[in-house]
Amino acid sequence: MIPFLRGANPLSPQEEKSLGEWWTAKYAETKKSSSWSWKGKEKVIKQALFLCNNDHCAYCDCHPLKDDKGFEIDHFVPKTIESQIAFTYSNLFPSCNECNKKGNNYDPLMLKPDELDYKFEDYFRFDSFTGEIIPNESKPVENQERAKITRDILRLNIGNKPINLLKAIKKEIKLNTPLDERPYRYGY
Ligand SMILES: [Zn+2]
Repeated sequence: MIPFLRGANPLSPQEEKSLGEWWTAKYAETKKSSSWSWKGKEKVIKQALFLCNNDHCAYCDCHPLKDDKGFEIDHFVPKTIESQIAFTYSNLFPSCNECNKKGNNYDPLMLKPDELDYKFEDYFRFDSFTGEIIPNESKPVENQERAKITRDILRLNIGNKPINLLKAIKKEIKLNTPLDERPYRYGY
């Protein structure tokens, strides 16, 4: 997870407010998180998120999303927890389908990729032997705690991610690809 630079908001304050109100009312009635839509706004939101992060997943940093990893919009604070802000632009991140499996899991201590002054190395360390992301032992315990919570909720070391990361690093070093076009930019 590297710092996420958020570009211009594609939604007006009125559009964000009405999406939030629509969802709050719907969820209060059905208590189901599945039956929702973007009310015609999915395309502009995706376009804006795509440009912010050069087609990387905001969490695991895999790239490119448009290939086989899916390009999903993740609600950072789940829409079942804070329904009113669920569809505000600041709560939305581009995500691969693996990271988006976090579903309704959330902790207020989770690191947000666009958090002010967030840096990967202040919280995490990449272990080049295992390909895993681990809390940075040289940083304060509070930072390590937040790193653990974030890693576990986003499942950053689950499934193919560590293997893919190591493979990508080996391959990309040989190809001399610009950093922004490599997956898992924190691994270099
Ligand atoms: Zn991901």
